[in-house]
Amino acid sequence: MGRRKKANKPPPKRKAIEALDTQFTCPFCNHEKSCEVKLEKARNTGVISCRVCSESFQTSINYLSEAVDVYADWIDACEQANA
Ligand SMILES: [Zn+2]
Repeated sequence: MGRRKKANKPPPKRKAIEALDTQFTCPFCNHEKSCEVKLEKARNTGVISCRVCSESFQTSINYLSEAVDVYADWIDACEQANA
């Protein structure tokens, strides 16, 4: 008759911190989450750069812009460049 320790620990509740998604898949090297966006709202500039292949892109933003908008602009620019 072994003593059984009752492990009645509830699973750790991981608070999903809704961090703004600022990491995207690079359109050049296709690394996932290698591209990071920086929103410089003071300068109305959004900068995205890939830490793997060092590609970067800069676009103008406004106060409503989010990281994903900068990324979308980059993808658009890439598509235009390839067109
Ligand atoms: Zn890249």
